[in-house]
Amino acid sequence: MTSDIEIARAATARPIFEIGARLEIPADALVPFGHDKAKVSDAFIRSLRDRPDGKLILVTAINPTPAGEGKTTTTVGLGDGLNRIGRKAAICVREPSLGPCFGVKGGAAGGGYAQVIPMEDINLHFTGDFHAITSAHNLLSAMIDNHIHWGNALGIDSRRVTWRRVLDMNDRALRDIVSSLGGPANGYPRETGFDITVASEVMAILCLAQDLDDLEQRLGAIIIGYRTDKSPVFARDLKADGAMAVLLKQAMQPNLVQTLENNPAFVHGGPFANIAHGCNSVIATRTALKLADYVVTEAGFGADLGAEKFFDIKCREAGLRPAATVIVATVRALKMNGGVAKTALGTENVGAVERGSVNLRRHIENVKKFGVPVIVAINHFVSDTDAEIAVVKAAAEAEGVEAVLCRHWANGSAGIEDLARKVAELADGGTADFKPLYPEEMSLVEKVKTVAREIYRAGTVTFDRAATDQLAMFEAAGYGKLPVCMAKTQYSFSTDPSALGAPEGHVVHVREVRLSAGAGFVVAITGDIMTMPGLPRTPAAERIAINAEGMVEGLF
Ligand code: ADP
Ligand code: MG
Repeated sequence: MTSDIEIARAATARPIFEIGARLEIPADALVPFGHDKAKVSDAFIRSLRDRPDGKLILVTAINPTPAGEGKTTTTVGLGDGLNRIGRKAAICVREPSLGPCFGVKGGAAGGGYAQVIPMEDINLHFTGDFHAITSAHNLLSAMIDNHIHWGNALGIDSRRVTWRRVLDMNDRALRDIVSSLGGPANGYPRETGFDITVASEVMAILCLAQDLDDLEQRLGAIIIGYRTDKSPVFARDLKADGAMAVLLKQAMQPNLVQTLENNPAFVHGGPFANIAHGCNSVIATRTALKLADYVVTEAGFGADLGAEKFFDIKCREAGLRPAATVIVATVRALKMNGGVAKTALGTENVGAVERGSVNLRRHIENVKKFGVPVIVAINHFVSDTDAEIAVVKAAAEAEGVEAVLCRHWANGSAGIEDLARKVAELADGGTADFKPLYPEEMSLVEKVKTVAREIYRAGTVTFDRAATDQLAMFEAAGYGKLPVCMAKTQYSFSTDPSALGAPEGHVVHVREVRLSAGAGFVVAITGDIMTMPGLPRTPAAERIAINAEGMVEGLF
């Protein structure tokens, strides 16, 4: 079988100016990074303000197997499919994080014959956005310790500094550290640690900011820690916001690349999908909507997390009005939701698909609550049988929606024409009447309870005492209108990753809450959340090397 990297290498990339021209982006509005990548200039984006928007299509998924169910692959495939049937369509996906590429994970640039290229670049350094985010984040970290070192005029309680440091690497050794060791010249020792760059609030801010002014405002609103009287200290109190914005100025401009079929794709921003909202940048999505008639975009994790956050955080914040939602389902994941072990997913098991299809039905019901019409994409794997596929179609039909078999992974746009036509029809039908799940006036506790009851179908929602106290404090400080960002396992509707299918009546317990005041959401944490991954016993890095022809080997 041909690997993703071999397929990507065999593609004929067109010069990026040609790709831009497809969207009528003039050459001088592109800031090229080599021949096949470019940023779209800030000035050009501003000039688009009064243009009408195209139609926004969200690609989300059922609860996945650990390998992923093909959201990115389907987003790319559907974009190609829409172009194939003569529609002017663009794709918006997240930038992958570099660190995990050296662990176990495959790439995040799609797969098979539905990929964005150049995949080695996109998965690694790309246009340097993550380096910029890392630098901006760590500048603030350095300014905090420096401020304390030089007399601490702001009265920061060094035991209550919540702002950590970041690095785009899976490095468990840095999760918890003591900084400033080595004597008075090195500052005041304190406990702190590192998160991976995609977990930085700066990443979430970059992805939600409307423009450079808004970016600077949000950076200034970051809470870095507290004084002994527990009053917050902001990044603007340290006068860090201006310099951070300067570091991020170029990174704010969306990146344009192409699919294997030379269709335009914006790859920009990549926040975590647990402690952050897991969507590509607002600025990329908005720019794409001004330039294309259809924009296909992806949200991280299953629809219980990804779609909910896309709607309640990103769309609400940015005033986006999605026209249609595609839920990606695979026979394999439904089988797993039907109780089959991970090792037996390749064997026909119609009964298990039937049992597991409650998961798909629950996601369809949930997405309808946002007023956006739904269609199901069955992402075809070679091991799927006709009988299994028929069960998935019947499950979708029982919810009043259509399920379309798609073979974009094997056949590119030719394999997804049928879905493309139906999605275009659905989006053009004008039946969408988007509304977030809860109003902003609702209390923070009620917002969490609403998501837990309506989407997760919890019977009871409980909070640690400290969490309810903090939510009350956030409200008293004027943050009550923010949306909530749920951090939960992606494998189940519940907080127990082993509760597959469509559990209900379970208990959702909120252990901790955090305020991301700059990004503009309140994180509610259920279960253990890892913000700095580690490498596995045998990391992929051991297999990655440059071959005799100077090409990258072992990356996917
Ligand atoms: P997600 O975005 O949902 O995490 P991806 O689109 O990144 O999922 O796909 C996860 C992995 O599965 C990738 O390695 C991709 O190449 C592979 N994949 C996706 N669709 C198929 C398919 N139909 N057949 C085989 N492998 C697939
Ligand atoms: Mg993905």
